[in-house]
Order: sequence, then structure tokens, then C-alpha cells
Amino acid sequence: MRDSIKRILKIMCIFVGMIFLVHIIFRVLPFPELKEFVNKEYSTAYYDCDGVLLQVTPLKEGLRREYTPLNEIPRSVRKAFIKSEDKRFYFHCGIDFISLTGAFFQNIKAGKTVRGASTITMQIVKMMNPDAPRTKTQKFREIIDALKIEARLSKKQILELYLNSVPFGKNTEGVTSAARIIYGLELNDLNQEQIEILAKIPRRPSSYNPLLTKKSEPFIYPFEFPHYIRYLERQSKEDKKKVYKKTLSVSKDLQTYAEGLLRTSLEQTKQNRISNGAVLVIENKTGNVLAWIGNGFWDDEKTGQIDGVLVKNQPGSSMKPFLYALALETTDEKGNPLYLPNTILADVPKEYGSEKLYVPSNFNNKFNGPIRFRVALASSLNVVAVDILNNVGVDNYLKKLYELGFDSLRNGGKEADLGLALGAGEVTLKELVYAFSVFARDGKDYDENQIYSKNTARIINSILSDKSSRSLGFGYTQTYETDYPSIFKTGTSNQYQNITALGATKDYTVGVWMGNFEGSTVVGKTGSSLPAYIAKNILDYLHKNNDSNLEFEEPYDWSKKKICSLSGMLAGENCPHSVYEYIKKDDKSLFVCDWHKKSSTTNKIDIVYPAEYQKWMRQNQIVGEIDNFSSDLEIISPKNGTLFYFSYANQKRQAITVEAIGGYENEAYIEYDGKIFAKSERPFLFFLPVEKGNHSCKVVCGAQEKYIEFEVR
Ligand SMILES: [Zn+2]
Repeated sequence: MRDSIKRILKIMCIFVGMIFLVHIIFRVLPFPELKEFVNKEYSTAYYDCDGVLLQVTPLKEGLRREYTPLNEIPRSVRKAFIKSEDKRFYFHCGIDFISLTGAFFQNIKAGKTVRGASTITMQIVKMMNPDAPRTKTQKFREIIDALKIEARLSKKQILELYLNSVPFGKNTEGVTSAARIIYGLELNDLNQEQIEILAKIPRRPSSYNPLLTKKSEPFIYPFEFPHYIRYLERQSKEDKKKVYKKTLSVSKDLQTYAEGLLRTSLEQTKQNRISNGAVLVIENKTGNVLAWIGNGFWDDEKTGQIDGVLVKNQPGSSMKPFLYALALETTDEKGNPLYLPNTILADVPKEYGSEKLYVPSNFNNKFNGPIRFRVALASSLNVVAVDILNNVGVDNYLKKLYELGFDSLRNGGKEADLGLALGAGEVTLKELVYAFSVFARDGKDYDENQIYSKNTARIINSILSDKSSRSLGFGYTQTYETDYPSIFKTGTSNQYQNITALGATKDYTVGVWMGNFEGSTVVGKTGSSLPAYIAKNILDYLHKNNDSNLEFEEPYDWSKKKICSLSGMLAGENCPHSVYEYIKKDDKSLFVCDWHKKSSTTNKIDIVYPAEYQKWMRQNQIVGEIDNFSSDLEIISPKNGTLFYFSYANQKRQAITVEAIGGYENEAYIEYDGKIFAKSERPFLFFLPVEKGNHSCKVVCGAQEKYIEFEVR
């Protein structure tokens, strides 16, 4: 008796040992097919912030196969599939011998294969080799592979792999995509009856057609946010950890609204050959994208693929706030600020450079003479912007633009030189929007770097939200009239090929670009009011229910003082117009206006301009006097090193005008090629004959003298 127990125990030990050995062998045998199958690609399902499905990205040939972790697959779904496919799934080792024996006899009786005995594990093997021939050898291999899978994966892993891979026909694999294509529902929203039907389909995918039986509308995969999702897909290519279900910050409602606005605007500009547009909306707090329209016309095959949010274009004046902000932070050698909000800029004709002359002009070809810093930015004047860049330095400005994220300017930014002030050099709408949002973020970028000081950002906000200061450039316009504090800046590229508008509140930043991807000439001048109108309406939409405090903060250590609107100095009793402006609390450079003076004889108020306005006053017939002694002697034209071209046609009429300002005497003389040539009283104007060759001239006024050279070819 004891011997027989011992013998049985011995046999059992050998048996268990053999099973264990087989298990080890199955575990270590190479099995690259399984590794490949487990790591296969899945579709990504994108949802908007309200849970609206935006896209399920297709795999090869339009196949959709979504991935849901087992613990997120409803228990009822798991149960139904086990019941339908493999009742003893949890109890077998990959092969169900009971079912196999049953099927064997049933098939012999019928004389053909009427029933398979595939377990869930064996079905995975079949999915791994979909094209394998149905032979006896293959069947044997499948059994071995099933054992290998069971030796390597847990039951939970096997079930998860199966439910996410099982084919349903209709280019659909896995239960999640099947629930969508068959019922148009999320897996979690299926009822018991629908689950039961779903679980029966994999047996014979072709024979079931719930679409017909249920008579529901066929499900069509949505294709929302095409450009943004393509952008995200490109970004996530390097991601090691795959996430197959993504809820985005975007809002489909907002996108639809913005698309409508863009479409209407593009129809209005059709005759101007503006046929493309892009919109980007972000939340300032997080930088999250709320709307991203890469293109206006989805049906255009040629340009529909182009993403206008990422295309590089000339931004025009929409770049000016970045320059003016830097100007407020630039100091001279003594540490005094170069520019303040009340600084007076000379909007007069000027020339820059000697090799290549650069003569900027304003959009209306008018020069406004003395202009306050605030008005110059709000009204987007060009000439003074170039002057500011010239003083701030192109390299310093580029450095700041890189900090702001304008990586596009690393190509061609340096070459654009002083043109950068007017938005030469190409940038993307995305770069513009994120950089512009820095002002609403108190000067900080999204890595919490303080790009501009808080006060600088706040002063720029005060200027860009200043409706009265805009009027010089744009006249009174309702485009920017919002019920809440907002800032706007628009831009048009040189050839009117691109029009851009940026708008922001404390909470959101909107960028709109309109133009032409194909670069064909835009017909006629189109104002930037259309994109501004879109930006404004999007902000209205975002703030329609918003009762949060949207006031931009005031700069600290600054207070508002009454200044003369012409001179920017403290308003005096003779100043006819005054405005309130931010003045630094410890600013000692501010005096009472001395431009407005009461005449002792007529009792009228006279305006006395500084010397640098001499030429502008003369050319524009401005009534007023010049304070001739307000600056050192300076030759304002021509520039040193200027190259003139001799024209035979106009030989007799040609003369080179030399104009000088400042100095402390009422008379000056000029030396031309080393000889005294002429004398002049104020204004100092000299007319030199045009002769080919290199020339020098020297203007002498009292103890001061200035020297220039020029060439005539
Ligand atoms: Zn005044």
C-alpha cells in the first residue's frame, strides 16, 4: 500500500516537474512574432475639452484599432466575450482539451469541419499569422505558439491583447473601435444587448450586420482639427510612452465659431486674391491651445494641407510691441532709460546706413514731426520704429526675439537688419501668438522666464489698449471696441500679401492671419481690419459669460501725471492740450513744457520746436519757430558716405543739398573739397554742384564743425 502511494507520488512529481520544464522551455524559446504583435501600432482617439470625439487616427489602409486597458473595459464586455469565445479561458493552458475532443467527434460525424475549438489564446496566434495556410502542420504550430503565449503572458494580459486586437471586419479591430463603427458609441455606453451582439461578431464577421438590423446611420469618423492634430502627431513621434486616448484643451464649439468667421471674411476678400487664413487661440494661463485653424478652405486640394499656423510670413507691424517693450528697458551708458512712455520721437525723414541707404516711410507717406512714444506705437508709425531699432541695436532686438520664441528669425533675421522694426523677416502665427501673450502674462513666458519686466508689460498693455492714441494711424474704428479691457496689434506685410491681427485679454490671446499660400500678388490694399474683426469677435465669444476681473494691472512705482500732448513734458499753463501719462515716481528729468510760449508782444501762444524738426517744418509748412540753439551742430543730410548717381538728363537742375541743424551761432559756412564754398544763415542750407568723383564737405558754425564725404557716379 505504502509502495503504491510512493509510486503515485513519484509519478506525480515527475509529471509536475515535466510540466514545469515544458513551461520553462516555452518561456525561453524565441518568439519574435509575439513581441511584434504586442508592440503593434494603435490608433489614437482625440477628444476636445468637452469630451467630443475629434479624430481616431487611421492606421494602414484606413484601419482603426484603438487601445483600451483591460481595467477600463467594462466587466460585462469581458464576460460576454469569454462566454462566446472561450468558456474555460481561465482554466486551460492555451488549449481547451474538452472543447477539442468535442469538436473532433462532431467534425467526424459531419464529415467536414463544422466547428473549431480555438481558444482566445489560439485566436491571438491566428491574428499574428493571418495569411497562414489551414494545414495540419500549421494547426500543430498554432498549438505550440498558444502554449508559448500562455507561458509568457498572464491571463489578464492575454485577454487585454485579444479584446484590443480582435477583428470585426469593416477595417476595424478591437472592441473599442467596434463599438464606434457598429453603434457609434463609446465602449462604456453600450447596453447589454449591444454587448451580446458585439461578442458574437468575431466568429463570423461577414454574417452579422447590425447596421442593417438596427437601421442606424452609418458611423463616419470625424476629422476635426486636422492641422493641430497632425502637429501633435509629429510632436509625439518621439514619445516613448504611448497614450492612445488624448483629451485636448481645444474646444470644438469655439473652432466651429472661428471657422465661420474666417470663411465669411475670406469670401469678402476673394476679389483681392486673399484666399487663405489661419487662426490660433490660446489660454494665457497655461498656453493651452483652444482653437487652431490651419487653413480656411478644406476642399482646396492644392493648399488644404498647408498649416497656416506654422507657415512663415512677414508679420509687418504686429512685431512692433516687442521692439517698443525692449526700448523701454534699454538704457544709455549712464544707466538712464533711452525711452519712456512720454518720450518725444522725431517722425521726420531720415536715412540710415551708407552702403545701402535705408529710407523708411510711414504707411500714409506722411511725417508727423514730434510724436509721443505711446502714440507712435498705438498708431504704428514706421519711421520712428526704425529710429528706435537703430538706437536699441539690431543684435539686442534679435536676442530678445529669440527669447520670445521667434526661432524662425534665426534664418534671415540678421539680414533683415533695420527692416526688423517694420516686421521684415518671416515668423509663424504660432510664434506671434505665444510671444504676444507674454504681455498679458506680466512679461513672463511659459517657462516662467521674465522676458520683459512687469512694468514694461503693463505699460505696453496700457498703450495697446489705448483707444485715443490709435486714432493717428487708424482713425476712429469700432473694430477694437470691446466691453472688457483688451489689447490689439495688427500688421500688413510690405506687398500687402499678409495681414495679421493679434488680440488679447488677460485670459486669452488670439492670432489671425490672412493671405495667400501661393504667394500670388494680392490685388489692392486690404486693411488689417478684417483679421482684427475676427480676433475681436473670438474674444467676445470667449468672454460672453465671463465675469472674472479682466483689468490689466497698473505699473507699480509709476503714477499718472498730466503732460503736454505735444512736448511730452509736464503740462504748463500755455499748453493747449494735455493728457495723462505714466511717469516714473523718481523721474527727475521731467520739466514743465517749454515748447509752448506766450509771445510778449501779441499775447498769442507760439510753438518753439527743437532744431531737429527744422527740415520737417520747412517741408510741411508747419507754423512755429525753431529753437536753433537746442542741440549741437549736425549735418542731417546727406548721410556720410552717400552714393549719388549722376544723371545727364537733369544735369543743369541737379544740386546736392546739404542741410545742417543746431550749432550756437546764427551763421555757418561750408567747405567743399577743402575750399570755402558758401555761407548760410538759418536754416543752414547749402547747394553743391554735382561733379563725378569723391567729395568732402565740412560745415562750420562758430566753434563747432561737422565733416562728411560722398561720391557721385
Ligand atoms: Zn506744451
